[in-house]
Amino acid sequence: MNTTAMSITQASCADDYDPNSMPVAKARAFIHQFLQPIDGTMRVPVREALGRVLAEDILSPVNVPSHRNSAMDGWAMRGADLGADAETTLHEIGVSFAGKPFSGSVGKGQCVRIMTGGVVPEGADTVVMQERAKASGKSVTFAAGQKTGQNVREAGEDLKAGSLALKRGRIVRPAELGLVASLGIGEVTVYRPLRVAFFSTGDELKSIGTALGEGEIYDSNRYTLHGMLTRMGCDILDMGVVRDDPEALERAFERAAANADVVITSGGVSVGEADFVKSMLTKLGEVVFWKIAMKPGRPLAYGKIGGAHFFGLPGNPVSVMVTFYQFVRDAMLVLMGADPVLPVPTFRATCTAKLKKAPGRTEFQRGILTQAADGTLSVKPTGEQGSGILKSMSEANCFIILGDATGNVEAGSTVEVQLLEGIV
Ligand code: AMP
Ligand code: MG
Repeated sequence: MNTTAMSITQASCADDYDPNSMPVAKARAFIHQFLQPIDGTMRVPVREALGRVLAEDILSPVNVPSHRNSAMDGWAMRGADLGADAETTLHEIGVSFAGKPFSGSVGKGQCVRIMTGGVVPEGADTVVMQERAKASGKSVTFAAGQKTGQNVREAGEDLKAGSLALKRGRIVRPAELGLVASLGIGEVTVYRPLRVAFFSTGDELKSIGTALGEGEIYDSNRYTLHGMLTRMGCDILDMGVVRDDPEALERAFERAAANADVVITSGGVSVGEADFVKSMLTKLGEVVFWKIAMKPGRPLAYGKIGGAHFFGLPGNPVSVMVTFYQFVRDAMLVLMGADPVLPVPTFRATCTAKLKKAPGRTEFQRGILTQAADGTLSVKPTGEQGSGILKSMSEANCFIILGDATGNVEAGSTVEVQLLEGIV
């Protein structure tokens, strides 16, 4: 498919495109045709790059490590001096500690006391760990069976000067902070934060602090969205609740699109509600409305309003979170400049309960994954799986992903799970 020339509505005219039964993978692929990283970048001190995306390749200005050094506490010597099958006794002529090198040269029959990270002195090419040595004054005896070159870390072994240390597109985690620091680099160029505007739609929604009338509920979607977007490091614009009123909605969409890279709404895209939102969004931009073959989260809209990408999520609180994690997160990572954007890994676990599941759609049931002492993984669903039951997300630590072809699952079967948390 020609990704640059084709508009969203043109792309949605493909022969096999069915908005009323859109497989999860196809919807994801459709959205990805229209994503390009944002332009803006900024220089920041290293620590402030945490969670941001590198907008430059980082080349190592130095060799890492900068000098040949010892991987062990022990003694450094010429490997050729050590007997292959017999003990060898050498004479200690000095010490090389980390940061305090030995300035002389190691000759035949000599050795230097060395600590981990200490510079391996001139002449020496081998380190014997102290557990394999016996010292008596300056006379040190080494066990047989040592190998020339052992326990020595070569200069530039981790990174050669001028080589690529980190590629543009890398999300900066604690390891990258340390790596950049190890190169002596104090500032990096990262993509600016993605600006995301979001609002909830629905006449039944009340904000916290107001009393609920009959049939009214508190707006929770703006809170879960706040959490998910903040964790992704976005600049967020929370526009509150917008009534199911064409004029109010139109103003909100215009304001959101004018101020953000991404606009996210919840509610108002289900059958019955979609029609007037649909006609308005057709006027404001290019938006496609889908019924995704998934549960929860059937209705979903995607498009462009002006320069902004628009995600119209369903109203049900669990659906909001599931569609965010399955569609919006990946798309936003691309916009944030991340490359590659890898799917959140899944793995297999034994399901301890029977699961009800209809074939023909992908289900994201909420599960609790546990690991037994023998290492085996088991998962059980978090009880009631209704798309309005946010407690099911709160109790869960994973999704149990049941693919399109899967029907009911018997207890003891193997299922695919996806963790909700990463460790770094
Ligand atoms: P809708 O997609 O607008 O038809 O909403 C589907 C269901 O989700 C309805 O029961 C709504 O009351 C509920 N809902 C919609 N938006 C929110 C929200 N922001 N917070 C909590 N529940 C919501
Ligand atoms: Mg609604």
